[in-house]
Amino acid sequence: MPAVLAPLAVGAALGIGAGRIAVQARPATTVRLLPVLSALCALTLLSSATAVALTLIHHRPGTTSVAVAAILLTAALCATAGGLRHLWHVRQNLCAATRFCRSLPRTEGYLLARSPVADAYSVPGRGGGIVVTTAMKSALTEGELTVLLAHEHAHLRHHHSRWIQIAETAAALHPLLRPVPDVVRRAAERWADEEAAAGGRRAAAQAVAAAAVARSRSLEVHSSTTLSMAGGDVVERVHALVDPPRLPWARTVAATLIVAIALVSFSALRTTDIVQDVLLPEHETPHLVLQR
Ligand SMILES: [Zn+2]
Repeated sequence: MPAVLAPLAVGAALGIGAGRIAVQARPATTVRLLPVLSALCALTLLSSATAVALTLIHHRPGTTSVAVAAILLTAALCATAGGLRHLWHVRQNLCAATRFCRSLPRTEGYLLARSPVADAYSVPGRGGGIVVTTAMKSALTEGELTVLLAHEHAHLRHHHSRWIQIAETAAALHPLLRPVPDVVRRAAERWADEEAAAGGRRAAAQAVAAAAVARSRSLEVHSSTTLSMAGGDVVERVHALVDPPRLPWARTVAATLIVAIALVSFSALRTTDIVQDVLLPEHETPHLVLQR
């Protein structure tokens, strides 16, 4: 049973503390490590719940055991279905976004979409790119457009969509992780802002604010496969560009997350042992298996 409790406890801690972690960590740490830890938690929870259910059915036949096993297996199946459904929607959205990109003319390194809605976002993948609408282009100065393109290039270069999708899929599998994807998404915006600020922090802050104002009239809803320059908490982002936060605990937070990843990985290996013991029993007795 500890094999189930460990990913459950770490998942709960992550769900509650993800926002606080992001405040103390560098954006790159949050974007990369939170999804990895979330995915490990979700997969370990699923596999350990399945392992416990199989162990109960195989070694402790009885009404109560079978009922508990049925609950665990149903929960695992529902979670898996939710994760697969999410991945299917992501694929559909990405295919639609890629088809849209292929229909657009490529101009000076980005794709120009005729639209009265001021917007700009990046579409990952071979057929993707950076999409800027005519309304957004006309709303920004040349310098602001350069910052916007640098921001979107950072999203593509660092595969931000991929990390967000990992966090979202983990949250679909493990309900306690639901706050994590938003935290990762906001950190990805901050990371892209920092890269776009190479030419000057105030110019970047001005560009972020200008893009947000231009987009404020937009009613378009984006899928999670795209990342918009004007997305996230714009006030927070502008403030962070003008007055960058000091992060004295950044290394400690990163080290703690790496240790947590190692511990959950160890838990996953223990779960693999349990499954192996259940399906291919060797010398151990069932009650010892259950006590792991
Ligand atoms: Zn962005």
